[in-house]
Amino acid sequence: MKIQILGAHLAELKGARLTSLLVDDVVVVDAGGLTSALSLAEQEKIEAVLLTHHHFDHTRDLVTLAANVGYYWRKQLAVHAPRYTLDIVSRCLLDGQIYANFLEYPSKEKPTLILEAIEPYSRKTIAGYDVLAVPAKHSVPAVGYQVTSSDGKSLFYTGDTTVGISDSWQHISPQLLITEVAGPNKFEDWLKKAGHLCPRLLREELIQFRQLKRYLPRIIVVHIGNPYEQEIKEEVAQVARELEADISLGYEDMKLTL
Ligand SMILES: [Zn+2]
Ligand SMILES: [Zn+2]
Repeated sequence: MKIQILGAHLAELKGARLTSLLVDDVVVVDAGGLTSALSLAEQEKIEAVLLTHHHFDHTRDLVTLAANVGYYWRKQLAVHAPRYTLDIVSRCLLDGQIYANFLEYPSKEKPTLILEAIEPYSRKTIAGYDVLAVPAKHSVPAVGYQVTSSDGKSLFYTGDTTVGISDSWQHISPQLLITEVAGPNKFEDWLKKAGHLCPRLLREELIQFRQLKRYLPRIIVVHIGNPYEQEIKEEVAQVARELEADISLGYEDMKLTL
């Protein structure tokens, strides 16, 4: 399994894209900084998009991807997410006013985007992968995804989450954990209220992972609060030392192999 981090940051600016991951060139998880990270030929290979929640920094490029899929290739693309997320994305991003309605373009019979609701805790085969959605703890309804390939390689991406994501650990056994740290420890209270993690809060969740699962996978941190990246990096390194774990910050175009 090849994983490419397309976007690893909380804010978009030169050299930094919003959160998005690509699995084996065919499955995208979250569509923040997606289209600006891939050539047209690379975008054409995408078979499915999974969305963790409706926030703009995770869904924005669904529209720009749909435009390329609809205008250039006249293909259809499946978008999987919880029903709540799909409803908001349909209403706000695909309403036919802000841009084309890719749920009806080029025709109602064969639209560019096909929305597929996914239920937490039920497994679904998507583009040949076993996909399991589990609830995350964010400011709005959100899920994390475990994506497992046919040869048994497995990643879990929490999406945006705060403390309590450990409730999902019992359902997953990934070789790679991709999670978020939106800010440094000094903003712990604010981050918790906003539904995010700081390194100290992540540490507590990882301790629970190890207690429950008797191991810790390799961990990559994304959704990094750009102005605080150096501070986050140092605090995450401290957590890695304390837990003797392999934890590092993700970055744009980072490639990982399982
Ligand atoms: Zn969010
Ligand atoms: Zn976010």
